[in-house]
Formats: sequence, C-alpha cells, structure tokens
Amino acid sequence: MIILLKPRVPQKKTDELVDWLRSKGLDVHRSVGQYQTVLGLIGDTSRVDADLLSGLEIVEKVQRVSEPFKMANRKFHEADTCVETGPFRVGGGQFALLAGPCSVESEEQILQVARAVKQAGATALRGGAFKPRTSPYAFQGLGADGIELLLKAKAETGLPIVTEIMNASHLPLFEQVDIIQVGARNMQNFELLKELGRLRKPILLKRGLANTVQELLMSAEYILAGGNEQVILCERGIRTFETVTRNTLDLSAVPALKELTHLPVVVDPSHATGVARYVPPLALAATAAGADGLLIEVHNRPERALCDGPQSLTPEQFSSLADRVFKLRDTLGNA
Ligand code: PEP
Ligand code: MN
Repeated sequence: MIILLKPRVPQKKTDELVDWLRSKGLDVHRSVGQYQTVLGLIGDTSRVDADLLSGLEIVEKVQRVSEPFKMANRKFHEADTCVETGPFRVGGGQFALLAGPCSVESEEQILQVARAVKQAGATALRGGAFKPRTSPYAFQGLGADGIELLLKAKAETGLPIVTEIMNASHLPLFEQVDIIQVGARNMQNFELLKELGRLRKPILLKRGLANTVQELLMSAEYILAGGNEQVILCERGIRTFETVTRNTLDLSAVPALKELTHLPVVVDPSHATGVARYVPPLALAATAAGADGLLIEVHNRPERALCDGPQSLTPEQFSSLADRVFKLRDTLGNA
C-alpha cells in the first residue's frame, strides 16, 4: 500500500503517522520528495483500513498495490484448490455438473429429476428447500421436508446434494447436506458467512446481483478466515441495464477469478439468463472460458414448475447439453 502525503506536512505529523503504522506491525519505507512524501507500507496490509487513511488530514491519496484478500489469493496459494466431498470433486482439473430443480416440490418430482440428471452425467443434485423469493406470496420452498426429500434422492442415486441456507439458525437441518449454497442475496450476509466458516464442509458461494469480483472474493475470505477452506465460487449473472435476459452473465469474471484465486469457479447460466433456450450456448461458452463446473436448473415438467420454470431444461435437453459439454471438455483437453 502506498500513501501519498499532502505537500508541506510538518515532520512531526508524518512521524506520528509512521509510528502508528509501525505499531500495527508494518514496515514503512519513507520517500521524501521536494514537496511531498510517499510512504510505502510493507507487510500484511489486508487489515489496514485504506478509507480511514484516506480520510486523514495529512493524506492526499492511498493506493493499494496488493489485494485485500489473502487466503483466497492465488499469490499466496499457487495451486488450484480442488473441493471434494464423497465422490464429488471440483477444481484442479476436475469438472462438476450440479443440476436439479430450482425448488424441491414433491418426492415424485425430485426422484425423477435426480435419476435423470444422474443418468446424464451430473455430479451433484441441487434443489432448493428454503427459497429466497422476491415476493412473500410466492412458493417459499418445502423447508425441512425439502431437505428430507433431497436425502431420499441421494440415498437412491448416490448423488451428493446441494441446497441453499438462508438463516444460520437452520444449520442443524443441514447436517447431512453435502454442499451448502449461499445465494446471491446473501453473499454479503457476513454473520452467516462467519457461521459457515466454522464448518468443515463445502460452501457454494454465489456472486451477488450487484457485487464486484473483488467483493465476491472478500466474502469467500470470510469463510476461509474461519478455517473452512472448501469454498466454490459461482458466477450467476449480474444486474445491468439490459432487460432481454434476467441478468447479464459476466463471463469475463471466469478467467479473472481463475487468475486472482485458487478456488474453483462454476457458472450458473440458468439464473444468469432466465431463458431455457439460452442456457446451452452459455453453458458451452462458460466451459470454454475455463469454468470448473456448471450449475443448471432441470425440471421434469418446466411448464408446471413452482419456481423458475422458464429457465429450466427438461431432462432430455439437459442430457443433450451434458453430452456437448463433455465433448467440448475433451476437445479443450486435447487442444
Ligand atoms: C438459486 O440458486 O436457486 C437462486 C435463487 O439463485 P441466486 O441466488 O443466484 O439468485
Ligand atoms: Mn432458481
């Protein structure tokens, strides 16, 4: 971090600031120019509040040269992280296909979808039990019963299950859930992230609707800082001025994240577009862009779905997409 002081700052004031920075465990390199002094901070600046420094009377400008996230940073952890649970693997060359209905609706529905996606090559079954809906009058999910149904589907198919948590008080219900999802709307629910940091189980962290890549990484950092190293990042589209799609899929976030962090990155083209026919092209594009996996909504009867039917693929459409994704992966691997 570099601090540019204002012109003609009295020596005493500069010394006070330098002493304070040193008391924080940082080395300070002072470069005195004709009019202005530049302070270079050496050490772990992730705990330094750049806004606080910028607000000081004697400071003109503060520039970070290293990112404020540490544990998620590839600079300090060069090798890809592979998140594993049971037979499930994602990252470090392992590709994951997470599929299932937006919400668990009935035993018949979840079992039919689970069997179909397993057959097509999915590596995890994803379904919502607690649903974050924009309207309080919309279907809110089956709650604890939904988790029970997912566990039944897991028992039959062997697929690990992924489902969203909205409230830390529900954690006891998630004991047998393999991967806990944090939805876009909770990406910055820091108290929830801290609770999940105490667990030792994979967390699928979705990017917020209006959050930057750096903010996503800072949220991952909350979980990692708690000691839980199993974080999977998910790009699911961001809100822009565009209205033809539900959100705008930020595919550039994929290579950017792969460069900035060692954590696996999956892409959700279903929530990004909101339109089932746009899901296959974007799933393929995300695969080509280097994603470590895909999250795809699949429903046995999309036209009757209680949630997100218009963006859900039928089992047949999913199966054909999965084939194309696996072929593309083979081609890319051999390229
Ligand atoms: C979901 O994954 O079902 C969901 C609600 O997605 P998001 O949090 O990305 O909106
Ligand atoms: Mn959904």
